[in-house]
Amino acid sequence: MTAHAATGSPVRKIPLDLRLRRLAVRRVLDLSPSIRRVALGGPDLAGFECHGPSDHAKVFFPPEPDGDLVLPELADWSGRQDPRHVVREYTVRTYVPSSDELVLDMAVHAHGPAGRWAAQADVGRELGVLGPKTSKVGPTDRAWYLLVADETGLPALTNWLERLPAGPRVHAFVEVGGPQDEVRLPQRAGVDVTWLHRGDAEAGTTRLLADAVAALPVPDGGPGWVWAGAEAGAVRAVRRDLTERGVDRKSLSMTGYWRLGVANFDHKSPEANA
Ligand SMILES: Cc1cc2nc3c(=O)[nH]c(=O)nc-3n(C[C@H](O)[C@H](O)[C@H](O)COP(=O)(O)OP(=O)(O)OC[C@H]3O[C@@H](n4cnc5c(N)ncnc54)[C@H](O)[C@@H]3O)c2cc1C
Repeated sequence: MTAHAATGSPVRKIPLDLRLRRLAVRRVLDLSPSIRRVALGGPDLAGFECHGPSDHAKVFFPPEPDGDLVLPELADWSGRQDPRHVVREYTVRTYVPSSDELVLDMAVHAHGPAGRWAAQADVGRELGVLGPKTSKVGPTDRAWYLLVADETGLPALTNWLERLPAGPRVHAFVEVGGPQDEVRLPQRAGVDVTWLHRGDAEAGTTRLLADAVAALPVPDGGPGWVWAGAEAGAVRAVRRDLTERGVDRKSLSMTGYWRLGVANFDHKSPEANA
């Protein structure tokens, strides 16, 4: 375990054993018309580990939703941009060793192979799961939290809500299509969840998240923590607003999870985190 004190970062980083697992769908549940829960299992799941709310893995998809899954030898794979494989990032929503199931909550859309796979997910279909490589555990002792997501960030946002202790003020802003796309979130005193509906607008084209955050006075009472996972342009607008209002950059953990018009967007690229 790597101590965060060593780097001065408030995020504790725990290196994990990196393995590529072939897993099969055991259950599919529609959380809403736009999000499907996919529970994966199989003998390869043995030894799986993750600890942080936004821990994520590389998921290998078949080229067509009902096609066979061909996994590479890791030594022969040249990374997520390797055109021979369809690989996208997904958050570990839950992994409970006793039930031996790894759960992903996947946005359904028609624009890319992963979104289409989610729409057709069915028991018995297979996915490859590589990672997480590192668990990142953010601070849970801040005075306030601001959580920002669209459908793709909702699994991590939910994980945050489940892990935060009672006490800090929590504001969560979630952009979805409409009321039918809202899902049940953990509830407790001190947590304000605001659902923002894009209606007929295309995902990734609105300023709903940026405008909602801009209308929120920066909470007082001590240092806070901001986590965001959503379309990259939306995340960038939120980040700009918060830094202009003096929120310490070291308290921002914000990532563009996808970018409008870009296939296989690299969330580690400078533009994802600018
Ligand atoms: C760290 C991390 C964690 C993530 N966790 C999750 C998660 O738990 N659940 C989840 O659903 N997603 C998650 N994502 C986002 C997911 O990886 C992307 O949405 C991915 O691009 C989808 O792949 P695709 O093959 O469907 O589309 P791509 O082939 O990547 O893109 C094709 C087209 O689809 C568009 N597109 C991509 N995603 C969406 C979308 N959600 N809505 C509308 N249009 C889209 C692109 O702009 C592009 O024009 C995460 C991303 C990161 C970086």
